[in-house]
Amino acid sequence: MTTQTTNNTVRELADFLKTLDCVAVTTHVGADGDAIGSSAALVRLMLSLGAEAVFCHAEAVPGYLGWLLPDDALTELPTGHDLLVVDTSRPDRTGVPMPDEGARLNLDHHEDNPLYAEYNLVNAGAAATAQLVAELYRELEIPLDRAAAEAIYVGVRTDTGGFTFRNISPEAHELVADLLRAGVVPAEVNERINRRGSIEQLKIVGIVLANAVQYGDALISTVDKADYERTGAGELDSKEAIDQLRTVAGVDVVAHLREVPEGTKGSLRSESVDVGAVARIFGGGGHKLAAGYTRKGMKPREAKEELLENLEGVVDLGGGR
Ligand code: AMP
Ligand code: MN
Ligand code: MN
Repeated sequence: MTTQTTNNTVRELADFLKTLDCVAVTTHVGADGDAIGSSAALVRLMLSLGAEAVFCHAEAVPGYLGWLLPDDALTELPTGHDLLVVDTSRPDRTGVPMPDEGARLNLDHHEDNPLYAEYNLVNAGAAATAQLVAELYRELEIPLDRAAAEAIYVGVRTDTGGFTFRNISPEAHELVADLLRAGVVPAEVNERINRRGSIEQLKIVGIVLANAVQYGDALISTVDKADYERTGAGELDSKEAIDQLRTVAGVDVVAHLREVPEGTKGSLRSESVDVGAVARIFGGGGHKLAAGYTRKGMKPREAKEELLENLEGVVDLGGGR
């Protein structure tokens, strides 16, 4: 297999998908709404094309997203299946290990994506990878049924912070209008993805908010194992709190540093600072305004000190450290 270093067109990709008869779709580790939404929509697209299509991911699918997939996820790449990867900026972040022959498709919207597959469609102008899957439906003239439309809607909705982030566009809103015409009921989707939380989640989010410290234009919160034990929450449960950290006036960079088994997972968000570049200092990546990284063997407290050092000169820390 030859890996191409240039992007393919939607037309080329549509023609390529028609040649496949047995595929497995995967997405990035730590799957979010766009990861599962774009995966589910692509699995359904391949089924509509008459292919055998499954979703595989070694990690459990987050409970609030499982309903989008037509079948239970497989935890390994089944033999004889071509691997299609969505919403994944790097080949070392796929939900199942990359096979020796590599991925056949890399469909994504991260600007730092190195085009690692045989066919690549990476468009950083897309609000979500799910928007690119919708373009493939259109190109292939496959009508969006309600299930596919819901999957695409969840991808666009979650990756744009409910249509509020800077990546939202007229095209994405036009797509959403089509999704509603295909049967999506936003209030019902909201009920399924935002109102299925637990009291443990609520408490860990409260701890993240209570632990927030402001340094000039930056705001950082940490959460560790003792906090999980105190609340009964899991390590993924506090992630949603990052959007609430962004509500403080005058803050331009927010960081959420949470303890994970291998060390600390950092999530960075901004309105104007290239936090993708900051994440890359620590071996991570992502978008300019939403990025992440993992620091192996480092506790959140140490990760915070290291982050503050690297934010000097990037954002005004107010001299208050
Ligand atoms: P998160 O903070 O985990 O929601 O991630 C924000 C964005 O950064 C997403 O687009 C992720 O795909 C990306 N990202 C998160 N962690 C990493 C990492 N370790 N390496 C590369 N990209 C990452
Ligand atoms: Mn994602
Ligand atoms: Mn995405």
